[in-house]
Amino acid sequence: MKYFVGIDIGSTAIKVALVDENKQLTGHRISASGSMFYKYAKQSLKEMLDQLGIDEKDIAYTVSTGYGRKLFKEADENISEITANAMGAVAAAEGECEIKTIINIGGQDSKAISLDNEGNVVNFAMNDRCAAGTGKFLDVVAMNLELEVDELGEYHFKSEGTPLAINSTCAVFAESEIIGLLGNDHSVEDIVAGVHYSIAKRIIKLVKRVGIKESIYFDGGPALNSGLVQAIENELGKELFIPRFPQVTTAYGAAILAHEAYAYEDSTE
Ligand code: ADP
Repeated sequence: MKYFVGIDIGSTAIKVALVDENKQLTGHRISASGSMFYKYAKQSLKEMLDQLGIDEKDIAYTVSTGYGRKLFKEADENISEITANAMGAVAAAEGECEIKTIINIGGQDSKAISLDNEGNVVNFAMNDRCAAGTGKFLDVVAMNLELEVDELGEYHFKSEGTPLAINSTCAVFAESEIIGLLGNDHSVEDIVAGVHYSIAKRIIKLVKRVGIKESIYFDGGPALNSGLVQAIENELGKELFIPRFPQVTTAYGAAILAHEAYAYEDSTE
């Protein structure tokens, strides 16, 4: 059996995905990017293969993507994360819905991607200048509130009042605003819900730049946060499709592209 690897070297996390000859997602691994992208990407791939009991020589083709994609020298090819994200999203939603719009929130950027009926990218918008509205912002908020980032969803649903308005448009000022709200005796739950709604409003502005067409799909690590999902759905007035492994779909897309590139090369030899 031959296998195909996709490696998404993100600013915050490295995601490795493996597909088999039938393009089925056979395994994946998520680890922190740290500062040594190449070393950690290699390590993460090795750990995934060891865990699955797969030999490195059975990997027929590797495609890297993401912020650090050019650093992974062993890759046969590297592609933009927009292409990989679209490919992974369409595959992850296959048989469940036809995606026309992708919302991706990563560690240090957020994107909206518009697809045509065939799943091709027709337009995209990106925010990589401002941390508010990204995973980094959620990490900083969690730290200030002495929570883990994966607890934010649970706190969101415990908020009882109207979510607090977070007015700062910059992550640095928002951090001081949050500390001020804590000092004014607002509950952690209401602050968390307020942060989620402020991110939701920001992301919807981005999505409007490419047009809101259903079905709308949401991925990236922050899509694991059910509170943020609810805030975006409420602000949009529409349901979102969340894949089973939202942080891994871009790596999955790269693995599918690895499969296709290999099949193409094989057919032209
Ligand atoms: P990138 O590809 O840019 O490295 P990711 O899509 O991996 O970004 O997303 C990273 C972000 O996902 C983190 O900054 C964090 O805020 C969020 N995140 C990761 N795991 C979880 C989790 N279990 N629950 C909620 N949020 C999470």
